[in-house]
Amino acid sequence: MKKLLLGTNWKMHKTEEEALSYTSSLIELTKELKEFQIFIIPPYTDLKAVKKLVKNSEILLGAQNMHWEEEGAFTGEISPKMLKEIGIDIIEIGHSERRQYYNETDYTVNKKVLSALKYGFIPLICVGEKIEEKEYGVTSEVIARQIKIALHNVSEEDAKKVWIAYEPVWAIGENGIPASPDYAGRVHTLIYNVLREMYNDEIVKGIPILYGGSVNHDNAVPLYHQPHIDGLFIGRSAWDAKSFRKIMDLIL
Ligand code: PGA
Repeated sequence: MKKLLLGTNWKMHKTEEEALSYTSSLIELTKELKEFQIFIIPPYTDLKAVKKLVKNSEILLGAQNMHWEEEGAFTGEISPKMLKEIGIDIIEIGHSERRQYYNETDYTVNKKVLSALKYGFIPLICVGEKIEEKEYGVTSEVIARQIKIALHNVSEEDAKKVWIAYEPVWAIGENGIPASPDYAGRVHTLIYNVLREMYNDEIVKGIPILYGGSVNHDNAVPLYHQPHIDGLFIGRSAWDAKSFRKIMDLIL
């Protein structure tokens, strides 16, 4: 059976000290669990220290963003070569906060996806509609566009390494309203069908689609039971290792 993917993006939270304390508790709390593939995505400044802890565990480590070039005059950016040296597994690409505040577009997402694949990372591509797009009834068009551009020129062979996270923008964060499991399930099926227009069935079956956006102790189980939900991508509810472990207990 495929393992359920369960991960957390810490956003701009946790100093190195906090990161180390969280990571050691999470390793301890989850070391017996074989049902999940757990991953954590700390800020850049924590990556090296956290890597030292997770390298002897099953937990995968991700970065929240990456420039597509190997090096160059890009002040404030971090390159694939730098992240490769640390031993990062996953690159999160196109989170809605990056799209909203830092000019991330479908086109830069595509460049980052191609670069991440070239360097042997798992690209974790985030897609999701804004509230007004949902209200105008164009969710399927928005999602299809985001997926098709993100995966433009991605070969069948490389598509096998991609993960997708569906994160409706209106569901994310303190003011977010979680998508109902039924709604999330419908959009996941839509994503699955968009992928089927692009790749053969065998490949599409292997591309995990995660749900993110106010996942919590009440909705984790019903979300996980929806069609084509292969994992949960969690923010606030997983920033405390015990709370994250509680989500795992509920699913088990
Ligand atoms: P949240 O964050 O679970 O705190 O809503 C989700 C995300 O942004 O990935």
